[in-house]
Amino acid sequence: MPYHEITDLMKHASVKDTALVAKAYTFAEEAHKNHKRYSGEPYFIHLFETAKLIAELGADAPTVAAGLLHDSIEDVNVMPETIRNEFGADVLMLVEGVTKLGHLRYRGVDRYSESMRRMFIASSKDLRVLIVKLCDRLHNMRTLQHVPKTKQLRIAKETLDIYAPIAYRLGIRKVNRELEELAFPYAYPAEFERVKKLVNERKNELLKQLEKFHKSVLRGITRQGVPIVSTEERLKGLYSLYNKLRHRDWDFEKIYDLLALRIKVKTVEDCYRALGAIHAIWRPLPGRIKDYIAFPKPNGYRSLHTTVFTGSGGVVEIQIRTEEMHRESEYGVALHADYKEQGKTVKETQKKSFFGSLMSWRGNITSEKGKTMLAIEDVGSGVPAWVRQLGDLDSTLGEQEFWEYLREDFFKNRIFIFTPKGDVVDLPTDSTPLDFAYAIHSDIGDHLVGAKVNGKLVPIETPLHNGDIVEILTKKGARATAKWLTIARTSIAKKHIRNALQKPDHKYQ
Ligand code: MN
Repeated sequence: MPYHEITDLMKHASVKDTALVAKAYTFAEEAHKNHKRYSGEPYFIHLFETAKLIAELGADAPTVAAGLLHDSIEDVNVMPETIRNEFGADVLMLVEGVTKLGHLRYRGVDRYSESMRRMFIASSKDLRVLIVKLCDRLHNMRTLQHVPKTKQLRIAKETLDIYAPIAYRLGIRKVNRELEELAFPYAYPAEFERVKKLVNERKNELLKQLEKFHKSVLRGITRQGVPIVSTEERLKGLYSLYNKLRHRDWDFEKIYDLLALRIKVKTVEDCYRALGAIHAIWRPLPGRIKDYIAFPKPNGYRSLHTTVFTGSGGVVEIQIRTEEMHRESEYGVALHADYKEQGKTVKETQKKSFFGSLMSWRGNITSEKGKTMLAIEDVGSGVPAWVRQLGDLDSTLGEQEFWEYLREDFFKNRIFIFTPKGDVVDLPTDSTPLDFAYAIHSDIGDHLVGAKVNGKLVPIETPLHNGDIVEILTKKGARATAKWLTIARTSIAKKHIRNALQKPDHKYQ
């Protein structure tokens, strides 16, 4: 189990990076030498595997070192000063951050899980803390069979309610998916068995159908002259299938993405050409064509989706993306440009997608005299709304400052508003009840007649404050007015108001 197994996974590790990880490796092995896991194995295995997962995600050397050291303060009483002296303030900050997160307790009340997720993100001083925590949890889930039965259920539910959604939100789909699939059988054993049985009854037939269709799709696209990088067949995961089934009366016929084909091509243009080639041959299902390239998901996910009739009685979802989009969708925030080149002055502009999907902007990163410059290009709708609000981000931030700025901005300029049932909606500061109404549903916004904040009726232009409980009053005949455009703060509310004003049946007031 040499440290090389970790550093080999790090893509741009410098000599200094490798030395830091090697030192943390030796330190952790010694510190935990009398410490065992439930399985009876040396505890160090957990630290080693966690660090490997972090390295695989593409995080930097201090994050990988923190992965090796993350349980050393809590479990074997290493002094924080020791970590600071041996590994520096950055690594100590990460280890302490992970230790503190461990103390947040989730009480398992459904409606609070979203606020818990937010608190969780807000309490981690640096997004890298979350990456360590997610990888820590992923390794614990991979070895959950050794944990006492009484604890398994709590850990699995916590994983589904807190950790998996955070991974999703950060765009780390690879971790999100594995956490869900690992936790499902422990959290909901009966439901797991039910879904597994339903799938197993059909599995062979479905895979045969998919394979056949796969071949003809390859032929169809190639004939149009679109070069394909790679393709992949996919059967929907049991947990995500379960989530769909229970919202669709357990009717298998209503699941359109049970079988999927993922096609990787070279360029964005090829994505659209491949889609065209497919639609020219197979009839798409109406309403299932999604252009997440022009309109990325809030977590930055980009791809083209369509679902087509295969011609042999079934439907298959097709996802088309470039390799870059694929990497972003799998690794999200964990991916970040390794722009620290030690010992030389770098003057080179790299066009990279920065931090993957969390911020799917294109940053021009220039390193000069140890300063990292970041200039954000206008990439239009490719940028998640809250990143766009960073707008005039100081372009001379160091890496550390950049991460901090990111986190601070994410939370400083957002307020968390509760529905009377305890659901949380996050909005930009100075949002009004009107923004809140539209954030919940356009129908609620369109038919708003008034709002109560903390139980009191208020004018709809009242600015909301963190933690307010807002109740929206609606009436069937109510309509949006042009004045609302001056009250709404969020672009989503404004968009819906404009739509409502343009509806033919709209009576101008
Ligand atoms: Mn741990």
